[in-house]
Parts: sequence; C-alpha cells; structure tokens
Amino acid sequence: MLAPYAMASGDSRGRRHPEPEHEYRGPFQRDRDRIIHSAAYRRLSGKMQVFTGEMGDYHRTRLTHTLEVSGLARTLARALALNEDLVEALALLHDLGHPPFGHTGEEVLDDCLAEHGGFDHNAQTLQIVEWLERRWLPKPGLNLTFEVLEGQTTRVHKSASDTRPLLEAQVVEAADSVAYDTHDADDALVLGLLSLPELLEVPLWRQAAGRVRRRFCNLADEELRRACVHELIDWQISELLRTADARLADWQVDSTTRVRECPVVVGFEEEFAQQKAELERFLFDRVYRHPLIVTIRGRVAAEISELFALLLAQPQQIAPEFFPADEPSNIARAAGNLIASQTDQGVARLLQALT
Ligand code: MG
Repeated sequence: MLAPYAMASGDSRGRRHPEPEHEYRGPFQRDRDRIIHSAAYRRLSGKMQVFTGEMGDYHRTRLTHTLEVSGLARTLARALALNEDLVEALALLHDLGHPPFGHTGEEVLDDCLAEHGGFDHNAQTLQIVEWLERRWLPKPGLNLTFEVLEGQTTRVHKSASDTRPLLEAQVVEAADSVAYDTHDADDALVLGLLSLPELLEVPLWRQAAGRVRRRFCNLADEELRRACVHELIDWQISELLRTADARLADWQVDSTTRVRECPVVVGFEEEFAQQKAELERFLFDRVYRHPLIVTIRGRVAAEISELFALLLAQPQQIAPEFFPADEPSNIARAAGNLIASQTDQGVARLLQALT
C-alpha cells in the first residue's frame, strides 16, 4: 500500500528501551496513542496559538491548530502513499513543547535561560517525550520510536544537517505552514484585528478571492471569508501535491535513502513561497504587532518573568520531576521546565500560589 519512498512501519529501528511488538497496533500507531494520552498533549487545549481567551472564543488554540495540521498532513500523506501513522504521530507531537502564551512565552523563557542554553519549543518537545512525561512503566519518557524522535529532531536543527528528513516529516512541516498562514488571518478577521478589504490587498488572498468569485458571485463578506479560507487551504495542498509529484519523478525518488539525499520534496515552488512570505510579513506587521496584541504580550511577558524569579527564590516549590537527571541542581532549567508545562491559566494559578 505504501510508496517505495515511504517509511514502512516494519522497517522501524525500534525504541531506545526495546519493547515487544503489539498484537494489533504498529509502532507508529502506538507512538500516536502515547502522545494523545500524555498530559502535555491535553494541555495544548489551554495554550494560546496567537490570541488569548480574553479576546473571544472563535480563534484556534494550540490543540485545534495541532488537529488541523494533523488532518492536512494526513491528506498529503494519503495522496502520496506515505505512512499515515507516522505522519499523525509527528503532527500530534510537533507543538507539544510550546510554553504558555505562545511565542511571547518562548521569548521570555529563552531570555531567562540564556545562561543555560536558552529555550526552544522544538527542543522542549524532545525533552517532554524523552523524560518529562511519565508512563506507567518505571522508565522516564514515552519511549517513542527512533523515526518519530528523528522527525522531531530535524525541526530543532532545521538546516544543520545535509540529509533531508523523511517525507513523513516533510509533510508535517508543510501542513504546519499551510495551517497557520491560513488560520491566523481568519482568526484576526473574526476577532476584528483586520478587515477583509485590507487582507484582500495581499496577493495570495486576492487571488483566492478571485478563484472563489469565479464559482460564486455576490458573496457577502462573511461568506467570502469562509470561502477564501477553504480555497487557500485546498489551493496550497494542491500546489504541494503537484510540486511533490513532479519532484519525485524528476529526482527519481524511489527509497527513503534517496529521500534523504534529495532536496526538499514537499515544499512550495519559488513564486508561491514568495507570496506566502508576503502574507506572513503582512500578518507579522498587522496582526502579531497589533497594539492590542502588543499590550497583551507585554503583560504576559511580565507574568512569566515574575513566575521565573519566584521559582528561583523558592526552589522547594519545584517538583523533583522537573530537574534534569544530568543536572540535578540546575534550578533555572527546572523552573523553565515547570513553566513550560503550564497552560495559560496555569501561570495565573501558580503566580497566585507563590505570592
Ligand atoms: Mg505548529
């Protein structure tokens, strides 16, 4: 059923702590289930993507974003005959390491931990599944397969390696970009940070609206917004598949070994990528730097810094499970692990408990 360039479950290199095979679940299905049953996964529902809960309840959370990525990645995987179980595990895993309050939380923790190697949400995802999460077994971590850990590792060191990730990891990376470029604009429209006429000045949205209007005329703004979101997702996924099919044929990709040697297969062509970059610049200036968002960011940044300082002063409040085994006296790192594990509301609760 799988294409020759897909990662076959039977070819998995297994786990750090070997386990017997399961009677009816493959290795990557088991990984997906371990991720879904983890506390870090459930807490994604209480972590903001870009917008906080005080702004309304229409917008995506880190969990609904993750589920959108998983759905898009599976669509790509099925069309390319890739390993859907591996793709789903990688997608559900990909944002597990995000701290509360999105990129603001990440920037503050990165500053707080500057002398201890900084903080990066992709690296934190690996820390979570390798030791911070605990299953019913005595060993720390989720003991995931090497392929899932490797897929996440390529997100940490994006350009450091001269071999490419498996196609299963490439589709998750692409699906992540399709999801956030589309849904951040949609959320901003509904929350009133942007107007549709403003957004329609951005080439990608203008073309999407043109494609929609060729099929439906006289759409009200609300209908046009929904239709454009649908169109943008469908169009981007179709572009990715068209490009990937051509590259697979041109580069004669016929094995996972060949996947690792070739340039990225699942990506946008130059012109389309530039248009996405233009949309991202627009979102950065108009949404992520919107005065309302900047005000909220300032407040939550102060909360996280304060929490970090309080924990450094009261290290006995940090549970032993947050201390790394190789650095048992690194209070700063333990405080960072504890803060990163919190939901947005958890930060407020912890602040109240410590002051
Ligand atoms: Mg993501």
